[in-house]
Amino acid sequence: MRELIPELEMELTDAIPGFSCRKCARCCTHKLVTLYDGDLERLEQTGEGKRVYEKTTTQERTLTGAEYKMIMENGRCVLLKGGLCRHYDLRPDTCRRHPFLETERHILVASTCPGVIWEEVGKISDYKRLSKGISEKIDAYLDSREQV
Ligand code: SF4
Ligand code: SF4
Repeated sequence: MRELIPELEMELTDAIPGFSCRKCARCCTHKLVTLYDGDLERLEQTGEGKRVYEKTTTQERTLTGAEYKMIMENGRCVLLKGGLCRHYDLRPDTCRRHPFLETERHILVASTCPGVIWEEVGKISDYKRLSKGISEKIDAYLDSREQV
């Protein structure tokens, strides 16, 4: 089963496909990179603090539950330099889990990631390292869609 959710730029599915990152940095451009408490603490350690993040819009907050997001300048994350993250080890959870988002009740895969290999299926247990905040919000949003 694969269903495109355009507003999330993700596909709803019932299996985790294979993945091999192509290091294209597409996930660092023109993206909503939401931030939660643990992310803000890590970003503080970069020494760049509030210069790299900003408030989410009301719509973004409703959908993801996040109060903050990474700043995109000309469509590029401010931490992206030469195709690489300047603080890779301290990057937000959203970046760590990309292109997968496995919530309590749903499996989502980024529709824009060229590293996804739909011909292969991986183990769901390999991807259980997600931030709880976004999982609950996304589940609530997808459940509300299913009730329409
Ligand atoms: S979009 Fe996908 S393939 Fe490209 S860098 Fe991000 S995770 Fe890797
Ligand atoms: S924080 Fe790093 S990994 Fe995340 S979007 Fe920005 S450059 Fe990419």
